[in-house]
Amino acid sequence: MKVRANFSLVMNLDKCIGCHTCSVTCKNVWTNRKGVEYAWFNNVESKPGVGYPKNWEDQEQWNGGWELHNGKLQLKSGNRLNILKNIFMNPNMPTIDDYYEPFTYDYAVLQNSELLEATPTARPRSLIDGLRMEKIEWGPNWEDDLGGKFKQRGADVNFSDMEKQIYGEFEQTFLMYLPRMCNHCVNPACVAACPSGSLYKREEDGIVLVDQDKCRSWRMCISACPYKKMFYNWESGKAEKCTGCYPRVESGLPTVCSESCVGRIRYNGVMLYDADRIEELASVENDQDLYQAQLDIFLNPNDPEVIKQAKQDGIPESWMEAARNSPIYKLIVDWKVAFPLHPEFRTMPMVWYVPPLSPVQSQIDQGNLSTMSDGAIPSIENLRLPMKYLANMFTAGDEKPIVGALKRMIAMRSFYRSLNVEGKTDLAVL
Ligand code: SF4
Ligand code: SF4
Repeated sequence: MKVRANFSLVMNLDKCIGCHTCSVTCKNVWTNRKGVEYAWFNNVESKPGVGYPKNWEDQEQWNGGWELHNGKLQLKSGNRLNILKNIFMNPNMPTIDDYYEPFTYDYAVLQNSELLEATPTARPRSLIDGLRMEKIEWGPNWEDDLGGKFKQRGADVNFSDMEKQIYGEFEQTFLMYLPRMCNHCVNPACVAACPSGSLYKREEDGIVLVDQDKCRSWRMCISACPYKKMFYNWESGKAEKCTGCYPRVESGLPTVCSESCVGRIRYNGVMLYDADRIEELASVENDQDLYQAQLDIFLNPNDPEVIKQAKQDGIPESWMEAARNSPIYKLIVDWKVAFPLHPEFRTMPMVWYVPPLSPVQSQIDQGNLSTMSDGAIPSIENLRLPMKYLANMFTAGDEKPIVGALKRMIAMRSFYRSLNVEGKTDLAVL
């Protein structure tokens, strides 16, 4: 056993209200500079939706896809020309249209405009052009507006099959928020792809950083990161990324996005893992086994054997304490309610997510779901978010672990709501 510590986060999506405070505070601290106007180290996506940059989840589009060869992930071998192009031309980077064109808001428009009876609104147009989004008439979180527009456009509008497939009719739509940042992966593709050796993973806490002096603007990291969380600063000509707020973390403070989070959805912490077992993960053939495989290499920070070995491996006591004090080990390993984002990307992401319960309480109130208080096992069939959708996001399509997590969350919520103090509902737990 070789113990390593990794800066990690669990985000409880059940509590995210999509307010973007995390993104704005992060921007003010880290990317409020020339050259990175378009960059959001932290962003919050409306799902289902194309995300930021556009279609980042579509690995076929960016890299022509990946496949496993003798336990190593490689570009698909079918097209050798593509592989040469990838090495010499790096053609798979998002363009500014895939992010968004930054602009400075002209407040004078607001102050000098005439009084209107109705608030002016942006008018979304048909966004679907074949399989791809059009370059114009789109922006991050555009999907939020589309839902409303579908309703306003009324029944006389003929939706294309593609529109129906992606967004459905308004009444059947569902929406969730997905805050995203660099995952400070255990097996970071950005580090592996950098020809200059400027990207590195810190030995002591696993935070992935860019050495600005060594960066030679190859931008291979931007193509390589499957989460598209590497950015290019056009002013300095260097790559930049989320720093894990390391100056704060080193002083025992949470990241800026966590501290400012309105929904209190972000749990900071440290996960310990067995570095001797990383190779095992590389040879897992079936994508759906990756979630469990990653779980298996995490180590319990309260296990005396782990504590002894961690000391020998030079893990500082402060990090061991952080690992013990944070709830993230419990959320991920003990209670199994948190999941990695797209484990099939095989970088071992270390930002994990508790899936949202959709409007379950209203279903319970309407008697559509049985609760633990009547002794029955809660049914999840009536939830609004399709299980398959969540499974595709968090467990490479395996619905079973997601169903288990949601059932545990329903049971926990029912239990806490049934608590009362001297016959009165305990408002503190609602
Ligand atoms: Fe690198 Fe991307 Fe992983 Fe962050 S999410 S460590 S940028 S591969
Ligand atoms: Fe969600 Fe918190 Fe960000 Fe608001 S600040 S969007 S609640 S993660």
